[in-house]
Amino acid sequence: ILQLFMPLNFLGMVYREIRRALTDIENMFGLLKKAPSVSDEPNAPTLRVTEGAIEFRNVNFAYHAERPILKNLSFKVNPGEKVAVVGPSGAGKSTLARLLFRFYDLQNGEILIDNQPINRVSQLSLRQAIGVVPQDTVLFNDTIFSNVAYGRPEAAPEEVNTAIRMANLDRFIEALPEGPDTRVGERGLKVSGGEKQRIAIARVILKKPPILLFDEATSALDSATEKAILSSLNSLAKNHTSLVIAHRLSTIIDADQILVMDSGEIIERGTHQQLLTMNGRYAEMWRLQQDNAEESAHS
Ligand code: ATP
Repeated sequence: ILQLFMPLNFLGMVYREIRRALTDIENMFGLLKKAPSVSDEPNAPTLRVTEGAIEFRNVNFAYHAERPILKNLSFKVNPGEKVAVVGPSGAGKSTLARLLFRFYDLQNGEILIDNQPINRVSQLSLRQAIGVVPQDTVLFNDTIFSNVAYGRPEAAPEEVNTAIRMANLDRFIEALPEGPDTRVGERGLKVSGGEKQRIAIARVILKKPPILLFDEATSALDSATEKAILSSLNSLAKNHTSLVIAHRLSTIIDADQILVMDSGEIIERGTHQQLLTMNGRYAEMWRLQQDNAEESAHS
């Protein structure tokens, strides 16, 4: 009997492991309904992340051949750097993130992590190397503590607590009726979008992936929440290579590089200061956001 059950148990474990790696990613891109269009090469090696460098090299991509989406995109994220992608809706920001996970193969060009083309390594190893903070995180019907621990179920409770502190969740959790044992999720306490995103950050802190992808929530957050998220994000981004899809320019002022995208192309790149001096599209976006912020402050 035992011999019969062991492999089943093992399969169950592997299955859960894969589900875990994929849930947040699928959630991020709403891909649950879509079958993946890519497959591993036979005996595809494991991705070996030593430094965490990302490179897009002349990337051309189309969902449907007749409509090119990304056009000859090239950029590098050096180890430990934070690179932000901004641009109008439909510019191709999420597409770029989906390609980093290899949800689709390219028409042309290459994406490399530490010089390994991502289409040559196993998809599981690729996806395990990247931690995602999605816009909208799925919470399980469980305690808030377990929801954070899910980032790495084998972590010791002290490690979970450290992640909670680093994500600036400790005060919030202490104030809950049953503290860390408070149940959240659909059948439990409802938490706000900003709190959910901090739970996602705590999970990723616990998971410690070498590469981080942050998809900033589009919904407006009050400035206290935004500050809290930003500070937890910064403690996460230390020692990580991170790619941030940003909607509020105020959150990426400190980025090592900002890529401004439009219609599938990078039209400007540089630091916040360099882009302001350039006085082009970014500077215009910045002025607009400043005006809006002032307006809402006065209304
Ligand atoms: P937003 O800020 O609104 O999320 P974005 O910059 O992330 O926009 P993408 O989602 O990358 O933009 O979309 C880029 C282009 O690709 C858009 O024109 C979109 O219509 C198209 N597109 C996105 N996903 C698909 C898909 N699954 N199939 C076909 N076309 C798609």
